[in-house]
Amino acid sequence: MRREGRVRRMTARPANAHQARLLRLLRDGGPNSRAQLGDQVDLSRSKLAVEVDRLLETGLVVADGLAASRGGRRSHNIRLAPQLRFLGVDIGATSVDVAVTNAELEVLGHLNHPMDVREGPVAVFEQVLSLAAKLRASGLVEGFDGAGIGVPGPVRFPEGVPVAPPIMPGWDGFPVREALSQELGCPVMVDNDVNLMAMGEQHAGVARSVGDFLCVKIGTGIGCGIVVGGEVHRGTTGSAGDIGHIQVEPEGRACACGNRGCLEAHFSGAALARDAEDAARTGRSAELVGRLEAAGRLTAADVAAAAAAGDATSLDLIREGGNRVGHTLLASVRTQVYRQSLPLATGNLPIVLGELGPAAGVIGAARLISDHLFSPA
Ligand SMILES: [Zn+2]
Repeated sequence: MRREGRVRRMTARPANAHQARLLRLLRDGGPNSRAQLGDQVDLSRSKLAVEVDRLLETGLVVADGLAASRGGRRSHNIRLAPQLRFLGVDIGATSVDVAVTNAELEVLGHLNHPMDVREGPVAVFEQVLSLAAKLRASGLVEGFDGAGIGVPGPVRFPEGVPVAPPIMPGWDGFPVREALSQELGCPVMVDNDVNLMAMGEQHAGVARSVGDFLCVKIGTGIGCGIVVGGEVHRGTTGSAGDIGHIQVEPEGRACACGNRGCLEAHFSGAALARDAEDAARTGRSAELVGRLEAAGRLTAADVAAAAAAGDATSLDLIREGGNRVGHTLLASVRTQVYRQSLPLATGNLPIVLGELGPAAGVIGAARLISDHLFSPA
């Protein structure tokens, strides 16, 4: 593999919990005055001044323009160092998203490339590193201060290692965090892709200012990010949100995990693609036959495209499968949840689509590594 960014850039870390909190406030709220920061942290004015001065000394924050006056002498706004750069990587089953953000987690550049996660970590990392190199070549970034990586399977979080991921053969136990940290020359954190999507939507999307919510991703697999009190709840081992392998049909279809009747085996994008390939092979849809012959395989996106083109079989597949795509899916989920739950649970329970699309994962990945770096060393 090619070596990227051997120069380690962000050398300082916050020295205590107060500094960590200040860094996160500046990340989430942007540049701010000392006075307004003081309102948000439980520190006396003099203690706040000491912590801000120490952060200025480390170079993690800089003075930035004059703050609005609240009486007395006007002071400078404080902001996170403008040259800080985070790499967000969202590895999906069929494509990878790579983005670079600034310290406020604004996406400065974002690339997507199709790939097959089943090719294994070495091939996928080649792709990730080449996309990261492209971002560097674009002049947006000289090097990365940290990287967050999402993978579509269960991750033992403390070590950043995938554990028996059903749709990622060849990744079991692979030291993703360590390997990519070496290649990129910066600290790396790894998490399940849906947890990162939840963090992204919380930072900049539909779950802004929401402390407790579930984020469900229906892709090749099905997963759920659980956010409680503003923090992702991973459980002891990192598998808390793994809803894809809950059995919904006792004698149902064989699942990639080895069991039968899992939610994922019946209602995921992969299940829809498999149904579509069956329909093509048995000659039920000329449209799908054409697409299968052209591409050698079918995806959920093919079915959606065929349905949009008016193919009756594809429309049926989508309806039969529990209304599996887009807004139809959302309506169907709402109906079922509201019908099958007690009123207290759903009385104030909005069920909405995410806002960020493919940016959710990469923003969440940047947030993950920034949470790590903006913690006391
Ligand atoms: Zn399963």
